[in-house]
Amino acid sequence: MGRTYNIAVLPGDGIGREVISEVRRVMEEAVNPAVNIDLEFHEFECGGEYYLKTGLEWTEEAEVFTKNEADAILLGGIGARGPDGRSVRRPDGNLAGYSVVIGLRQELDLYANVRPVKLFEGVPTPLAGKGSNDIDMVIVRENTEGLYFPAHGRIKEPDRDFAFDLRIITAKGSERIARYAYELAKNRNGAPVDKVKRVTCVDKSNLLAGCQLFREYFNKVGENYKEITKDYAYVDAWTLLAIRKPEYYDVVVAPNAFGDIISDLGGALMGGLGVAASGNIGEEHAVFEPVHGSAPDIAGTGQANPIAALLSAAMMFEWLGKRFNDNVPVKTAGWIRDAIEEVLREGKIRTPDLCLGKWSEVKPSNTHQVTTEIIRKMMG
Ligand code: NAD
Repeated sequence: MGRTYNIAVLPGDGIGREVISEVRRVMEEAVNPAVNIDLEFHEFECGGEYYLKTGLEWTEEAEVFTKNEADAILLGGIGARGPDGRSVRRPDGNLAGYSVVIGLRQELDLYANVRPVKLFEGVPTPLAGKGSNDIDMVIVRENTEGLYFPAHGRIKEPDRDFAFDLRIITAKGSERIARYAYELAKNRNGAPVDKVKRVTCVDKSNLLAGCQLFREYFNKVGENYKEITKDYAYVDAWTLLAIRKPEYYDVVVAPNAFGDIISDLGGALMGGLGVAASGNIGEEHAVFEPVHGSAPDIAGTGQANPIAALLSAAMMFEWLGKRFNDNVPVKTAGWIRDAIEEVLREGKIRTPDLCLGKWSEVKPSNTHQVTTEIIRKMMG
């Protein structure tokens, strides 16, 4: 038996809880019996519903373990509605659960938000004429500074009323995110269209000083990666280009707010939130979570697609393997992904969000049935 991996599991609210319990099933029914990997799950309640019950976003024990002892963190989705039907908020106006979703990114310095945009065979994309051979990129977003750095304010006086969001972009932040993107590209197979290893810097450097600095460091770091093609696009143009020719993109790197927006576009290209996974990655810590939230509109109905959470867990295993130089979690990640790909390719067992287009005649399965099929493939 090798190393023990301590995983902090934070299911959160609504479908977050539902999909995380499916991840645990995959671990208990497939991974634990078959793979020589010692996993310890430490699960803690957290989020908006917990806040409604207790006045806390999570317990001190949960916070201490997650920040100091966990080897990796797996998060479901956060966000609850109160009895008045509105989102539950803290007294400071932030959503209840902010400390978990956003606080961890800041406090653990999780500077890279990584979202693979891969269209799996068997998944409907809204792009006409594009298939699984055309869409396979990773969007890397700077995650700790830029427009979302908490430096906001409002001046409200009798004769003037304005708000501001300070956008700080640093050399350190730009340098490390550029390096992350180049390193990622080094180990990928290039863009679908030409197999060229390419990193595209998406910014607004024709107008904004922060973006000029971001691009300057993209170029500077890039000097150490001669084998990787540097590519550039202004963010507004990129949204158009990504829809016209997604096959051109391999790794895409962007400052915080722009990266946030373009990665949702990426989520749409790959078939929606039910299959969109993400990692928030730092030097020593990382949080893996499906891109979706708590989806109150479908919570409790069994319609939540567990695949986004399962792909996030696969990303977690891959990261653990690289961080601790251990091939077992890397193999586990591949095994989970292969089973998911097979189920999607077959196209028979899927939640309603994927019963579209060519698959609109398929009778929808529920969250549990999809996971059961994935486990069956893993064990088959
Ligand atoms: P959402 O991601 O929860 O849902 C958006 C839409 O996608 C809904 O129609 C939902 O049914 C569908 N959807 C999402 N995940 C799905 C899945 N796995 N399978 C099938 N369909 C799925 O976003 P929202 O409705 O705007 O927000 C709901 C709550 O979640 C809010 O409180 C919001 O603040 C929060 N939120 C949290 C996170 C996070 O925790 N990182 C992210 C986004 C939203």
